[in-house]
Amino acid sequence: MVTYRRGGYVQGADEAVERTCDHCEWHCVADSYPELIRAYQHHLREAHPKAWLRV
Ligand SMILES: [Zn+2]
Repeated sequence: MVTYRRGGYVQGADEAVERTCDHCEWHCVADSYPELIRAYQHHLREAHPKAWLRV
């Protein structure tokens, strides 16, 4: 049996996610995708109520 190990690169939980706003220069970095969605929804509601209603 061969144990295969990838060197050094971890994909997934430790990776921060980032998103920018479609309507302005706002961007957000979060530790998880659900957290990022929540932050972006909050921003939309505060800054772009019309766009938020359409989501
Ligand atoms: Zn925005």
